[in-house]
Amino acid sequence: IWDKCLKDLKKSIKSHEYKAWIKDLEFVSITGNKLVIKAKDHITKELIEKRYLPAIKDVVAKNFSKPLDISIVLKRTTGHVLELDLRTKKKEAENKIESNLNPKYTFENFIVGASNQFAHAAAIAVAENPGKAYNPLFIYGGVGLGKTHLMQAIGNFIKTMYPSKTVVYVTTESFMNDLIDSLRNDRMTEFREKYRTVDVLLIDDIQFISGKDRTQIEFFHTFNALHGSGKQVVLTSDRPPREIPMLTERLRSRFEWGLIADIQPPDFETRIAILRRKAEDEGIEVSDSVLKLIASRIKSNIRQLEGALLKLKAKAQLEGKPLDEELVKNALKIEPGISHPSSSESDHLPVDEIKKVVSQTMGVTIEELNGSSRKKHIALARQVAMYLCKKFGNYSFPKIASAFNRTDHTTAMHAFNRIKELREKNSELNQLITEIENTLARLIDTS
Ligand code: ADP
Ligand code: MG
Repeated sequence: IWDKCLKDLKKSIKSHEYKAWIKDLEFVSITGNKLVIKAKDHITKELIEKRYLPAIKDVVAKNFSKPLDISIVLKRTTGHVLELDLRTKKKEAENKIESNLNPKYTFENFIVGASNQFAHAAAIAVAENPGKAYNPLFIYGGVGLGKTHLMQAIGNFIKTMYPSKTVVYVTTESFMNDLIDSLRNDRMTEFREKYRTVDVLLIDDIQFISGKDRTQIEFFHTFNALHGSGKQVVLTSDRPPREIPMLTERLRSRFEWGLIADIQPPDFETRIAILRRKAEDEGIEVSDSVLKLIASRIKSNIRQLEGALLKLKAKAQLEGKPLDEELVKNALKIEPGISHPSSSESDHLPVDEIKKVVSQTMGVTIEELNGSSRKKHIALARQVAMYLCKKFGNYSFPKIASAFNRTDHTTAMHAFNRIKELREKNSELNQLITEIENTLARLIDTS
């Protein structure tokens, strides 16, 4: 009878959807009013429950001559299925090389809350209708808030839903490197072929295109080619298009053509939900009150939130203690007002952290900060980073100079004084630095 149900479903559900989700459902049992069927993985199960349950109920009621409750279970990993699994894994790996997608970033394990609801809905719309819903989709938000996750979830979803579509994920940096290589090796035809023939192009951290003139020109043409033929473009950035410095007007306006969706830092409830999910995934047993404590301490970065949980688990194991509130309090140094003798140390932000924030906020790469380019915006960012190393790390000038591969400590001193002066004269720059300082202050809070 189940085969007959499948046949009926095949008629009522679009063929590619049927093939992707319904075809492989297996009959398990009927007990009383309950029909149990087996799905091959989590995504399938969830999608069926969200979308196809009514349709399945209808045909089941018709074919079994009575309405039945439907429950979907996952395939057990017996040897046989394991083998199958391996085979699909292998296939996935092949796809991964081509698309560059990390299979762990899916919609299924993306927790939705008020802070990311809009971006999530936009991402789903684009994933379901690539090229037709919003083009481009531009997702922006702070560090560690789930932009890359959401972007790759679009890619992974499209790959499952429309296996024939080509999806390519690249960071702006590797797009740039690819371009430079291609120019150098006279392989521009291949470069264009590669990027202009995809169905879905996902470019991460587009703010790094700032000041990269050649890359902007090439990306402009890539964008036009794709957009013009109805192919989907998705971009992420740590800020909205109009705040990306040194970006040509024609690119900026294109970034704004489709839909701009922001992701905000998660609220308390969402932070708890994310922690709970992570704990489940990692098999960490931890009480709600401990989760609450962690969530009340780490507020603005989901990567740090997850990292804290793993760190605590490791600490508990290492010290042979339970993961309880006591441990969290000690490990996350939370008591406000109690000054530890070593507290000045935690104000001592590592140079790498400072470089990272400057790099992200000012749209230059870490390599450029460490390098010797004298391009105006790079040199400025480098000086800002040195200035902040003094201010936030209180490192000596020789130490700062050497952290930036400079032998002469007066370089660092000069940078410090210059930025101090510039802040008073240039309000735009001053604002930018204040923004960086706020981020750094938050890092101190949570480190
Ligand atoms: P971004 O690209 O914005 O810096 P990522 O996408 O790399 O941030 O996210 C950082 C980490 O937090 C990743 O491990 C990601 O899976 C996780 N994460 C972010 N948002 C969520 C969410 N809403 N639900 C579950 N995990 C999330
Ligand atoms: Mg990212």
